[in-house]
Amino acid sequence: MYSVVKDAARGASIALVDDSIIRGDTLRKVLPKLRASGARAIHVRVSSPPIRYPCFMGMDFPTRRELVAHGRSIDEVRKYLGADSLIYLTVDELTNAIGTTELCTACFTGNYPFTINIDETEIAFASDRLWEP
Ligand code: SF4
Repeated sequence: MYSVVKDAARGASIALVDDSIIRGDTLRKVLPKLRASGARAIHVRVSSPPIRYPCFMGMDFPTRRELVAHGRSIDEVRKYLGADSLIYLTVDELTNAIGTTELCTACFTGNYPFTINIDETEIAFASDRLWEP
C-alpha cells in the first residue's frame, strides 16, 4: 500500500528513484496516485539496467513474459508505466558504480554464468506461469 503526501506532490516535478523494475506493477500503482495528487511531471530513474531475462538463481522472476522490459524498448516501458521520462543505468555504469565486473548480469544481458537453454529452463522453473492469460 502506497500513499502520497498530496501537498508535496501538487504542482511538483518529481524524480522517482527505484532500484530496479521487474514487472512494473508497483510503479503502475504509484504513478497514477502521484498524477491524481497533482504532480506536474514524473521522471523515473532506475539504479539498474532494464531486466529483460529471467533469474534462475533465486529471485522470483523465472519467465521473460512477466518482465516489463522484455520485448519493449525503454520508451515503450516509459509509456506503459505512464512516466514523463525513464532512465536506467547501463550495465557499464552499474559495474563502474560497484567497482567490479566479477558479478552476474544475466537478467540484464541474457549472458548466464553457465550454459543454458532459456526456453527449457523457463518451463522447468515455471510451467505453471507460462500459460497465464
Ligand atoms: S543479477 Fe543474476 S543472480 Fe541477480 S537477479 Fe539478475 S540473474 Fe539473478
